[in-house]
Amino acid sequence: MTVQTTEKYCPICGKPVTDPTYNRFGEFACSDGHAEEYVKEVRAQKVQAHAANRAVQEERPPRQMRGG
Ligand SMILES: [Zn+2]
Repeated sequence: MTVQTTEKYCPICGKPVTDPTYNRFGEFACSDGHAEEYVKEVRAQKVQAHAANRAVQEERPPRQMRGG
C-alpha cells in the first residue's frame, strides 16, 4: 500500500500547503495573509447569498397569505 498523500492547496494562490497552521474553514492557506484573504472571501460570499435571499423575498408581494 502506498502512503496517502493528502496534499492541500492554498485557495488563494494554489500553492501546495504542507503546514496546517493556517487552516480556515477546512481549507489550508499557505500563509497568514492568504488565510485572512480566504476568510474575507468566504464572508463576502455569505453576505452576498444573504442579500440575494432578501432580494427574492422582497420581490414577492406580501398579500400571498393563505386563508387570510
Ligand atoms: Zn497562498
